[in-house]
Amino acid sequence: MENSTFEQLLTIIEKYETIVICRHTNPDPDALGSQAGLATILQQSYPQKRILKAGGMPDNLNFLTHMDKVEERDYQQGLVIVTDTGNKERIDADKNHLAQASCIIKFDHHPAEDDYADAQYVNTKASSTCEIIYDFYQANDQHLCLTKGAAYLLYAGIVGDTGRFLFNNTSAHTLQIASYLISFGFDFTSLNRHFIENPLKVVRMSGYVQQNFTLDNGVAWIIIDQSLLDRFQITRDDTSSMVGLLGNVDEVKVWAFFIERGDQKGAYRCRLRSKNLPIVDIARKHDGGGHLLASGANAQNLAEVQQIIEELKQLVTHEQEDKQ
Ligand code: AMP
Repeated sequence: MENSTFEQLLTIIEKYETIVICRHTNPDPDALGSQAGLATILQQSYPQKRILKAGGMPDNLNFLTHMDKVEERDYQQGLVIVTDTGNKERIDADKNHLAQASCIIKFDHHPAEDDYADAQYVNTKASSTCEIIYDFYQANDQHLCLTKGAAYLLYAGIVGDTGRFLFNNTSAHTLQIASYLISFGFDFTSLNRHFIENPLKVVRMSGYVQQNFTLDNGVAWIIIDQSLLDRFQITRDDTSSMVGLLGNVDEVKVWAFFIERGDQKGAYRCRLRSKNLPIVDIARKHDGGGHLLASGANAQNLAEVQQIIEELKQLVTHEQEDKQ
C-alpha cells in the first residue's frame, strides 16, 4: 500500500470525534511512546475530541503512561490509529472490535507484514515509530501542538528503539529530533535511569544469563523456562532488559532468548537479535517478524526452539563460507 502524506492523514483524523489509538502486544517504549505521544499531541490540539489509548500495560513501563478503559462502542464507526505494529495479529485490541471501526490508520517503521490499514505512513528507515510521529507533528505544526509531556514520550521511544543511540538505525535525523525534544526541558536523566536501573532480582538473573548462555560458532542463546523465572522471581517482561547483554559479547554474531510462555506451557516466545546478519526471515518462518536485526518469533515446543537455533547456526556458517 502507498503511503499517504502526513497532511492527508491529519485530514482524516480531523473528521473523527472518537479516536482509539492502539499498538502491539508486549509493548516496548517505542510502542507506548508513539501511542501515548500521539494521543497527547492530538488531545492537546483538539480538546473536544475523545482520544483513547487501548491495550494491556506492562508493570515495568508504567512510569511512561497508562491505558484508558476502551469499550466496543468506542470502536464503532470511529477512527482507530495503530502505531508500531506491522501485522494485524499483533495489534493489542479485540479483533471483533477493530472490525467495527470505520477507518484504520497505521504509523509504523516495521517492514509491512500485512495491509490492515485504510491509510498509512510506513518508513522502515526511521529509527522508531516515535520518530515518525514527530515527523507527522512537524509536517502539521500549524495545526498540532507538541507539549513537554508528548516530547518526553517520543524521546523515550527513540531512546528505547535505538538502544540509547547505539544501534545502526540511529541517523542524523534521529539525533536532530532528539535534540529538539530534549529542548522541552523534561528530566531526561531520570528517564534514562529508568532504562538502566533494574530491581536487584533482575540484575541477579542478568548475571545468571551471562554465566549460563550457550555460545556455538557466533550463535548465542539461552532458554528461560518457567522454573527459572520462578527461581529468580521475575516476570517475562523483566527479561526484556537482558536481551541486549549477549550482544555485548565480542564473539557473538547472532543471539536468541527463548522465554517460556505463561499462556501456553512448553511453548516459547523467541527474541532474536543480530549484529549484522538479517534474522527476520528466520523469525517469519516461526510465526514472527520484526526488523532485519531485531525480531520476535514463537516456538510451539523445545523441538522448534532447537530448529530455530539450527537455522541461526546455518546463517552464520553460510556467511563464513561466502567469505572464504
Ligand atoms: P522483541 O524481541 O519482542 O523485543 O521484538 C523485537 C522486534 O520484533 C520488535 O520490533 C517487535 O515488534 C517485533 N516482533 C516481536 N515479536 C513478533 C511477532 N511475533 N511477530 C512480528 N513481529 C514481532
